Amino acid sequence: MNKLSTIHLHTNYSDGVNKAYEYIEEAIRLRLKSIGISDHSPVPFNSTWAMKKEDLSKYIAELDYLKRTYKKHISVYAGMELDYIQGYNIKKYIDFDNLNLDYFIGSVHYIYSEITDSYGTADNSQEEVEKLISNGFNNNGVLFYKKYYQTVQEMIKEYDPIMIAHIDVLEKRNRNYELFNPDTEEYKNQIENTLNCINKSCVEVNTGAMAKNIDVMYPSKYILKQCFKKKIPVSVNSDCHFISGLQYGYDKAKDTLLDIGYTHIFEYDGKFIKKEL
Ligand SMILES: [Zn+2]
Ligand SMILES: [Zn+2]
Repeated sequence: MNKLSTIHLHTNYSDGVNKAYEYIEEAIRLRLKSIGISDHSPVPFNSTWAMKKEDLSKYIAELDYLKRTYKKHISVYAGMELDYIQGYNIKKYIDFDNLNLDYFIGSVHYIYSEITDSYGTADNSQEEVEKLISNGFNNNGVLFYKKYYQTVQEMIKEYDPIMIAHIDVLEKRNRNYELFNPDTEEYKNQIENTLNCINKSCVEVNTGAMAKNIDVMYPSKYILKQCFKKKIPVSVNSDCHFISGLQYGYDKAKDTLLDIGYTHIFEYDGKFIKKEL
């Protein structure tokens, strides 16, 4: 398990600290067989973490160069964390089909509020998420998570990605159930409906928040148990933003999955390959 790679990481093209080659060299040092770079897709409005649209061709060219440069030591894959945003066609905006990426992972960060006619993000500071719920959703956590999962369901249907990133990222700021109660039938119905949309995608087990000292692993154990029942494959990824996080929290992920009953996970090396836990 220690030798497990990641296809979800961020370089300084989006909101990561390190450069792509630094992750690759760290992965070689750790003797990983493969690694995938997946910076945040550009979005059609101001964002503090998305890649700039004008950097896109440089990003693709650099990853192509790095693939060739490190070929003898490791398989490098060019990817992207593709945002799904209601009301925008991101694929069209970035001419996605002509980028020729090796893969992309699908995710939802931006949530549209009809009340404010604007977007907020579920993956933000405590203060910002609380502000989003109070201004954008009448201070009603149920309306907030319903909108979030509705957006995730649309993303899954529209993108059918190889992997769904941090499927319940809205749990990040809900550690003491301050925003909503995930133990209700209403919340569980949202999970059920969301998982039922999955076609072939892996669900990501994401250790990224843990590397940033937020003690939460996505998905929740409840969701992972539902995935297990539905035979949905899972893949462990670090969503790292700095090289020391490359394999952060993998042991905890492994223990959690074994505890639930998973015996195998999937690791990407050109395609998802089944690997014993
Ligand atoms: Zn993300
Ligand atoms: Zn990410």
